[in-house]
Amino acid sequence: MANKATSSSSVPLVEEDEEELVYGSESGWVEARTNCDHLATALSSDLTHIPTPDTHCTRCHHSNENWLCLCCLDVLCSRFINKHMLEHYQETTTHCVALSYSDLSVWCFSCDAYLDAQVILPLRPVYETAYLLKFGEAPPVRPVEYVLQV
Ligand SMILES: [Zn+2]
Ligand SMILES: [Zn+2]
Ligand SMILES: [Zn+2]
Repeated sequence: MANKATSSSSVPLVEEDEEELVYGSESGWVEARTNCDHLATALSSDLTHIPTPDTHCTRCHHSNENWLCLCCLDVLCSRFINKHMLEHYQETTTHCVALSYSDLSVWCFSCDAYLDAQVILPLRPVYETAYLLKFGEAPPVRPVEYVLQV
């Protein structure tokens, strides 16, 4: 029998919060949460029929890079235009999760953070639908788990 143990002499086991180990180290990937407590109330029951990415802001008719409210499926402009998505959240507070038609990122206003739409299962279908509408093809599969080799 060969002795398979090689390294790992006396490394103390550090308790790490694996939920927080996201893709911050990958080049350019913004750190996104993999959980959100607001999805139960913030998501529409029908996320399969969403407006197309070129839908104008329903308030000021700004034409691109708008946000989709995943609660009522309203399309509203970003904080860099007339802040209508932000206004919408401030008026309702329950409509806190929105998908960007600019880069398909998902933002939760209540968490004040991006959500990882490929890891959070309730978000994945609407992400894939939006991707299909925007690019005309299904999104590439991104590996969601890394095997840490020590
Ligand atoms: Zn949240
Ligand atoms: Zn607007
Ligand atoms: Zn809404």
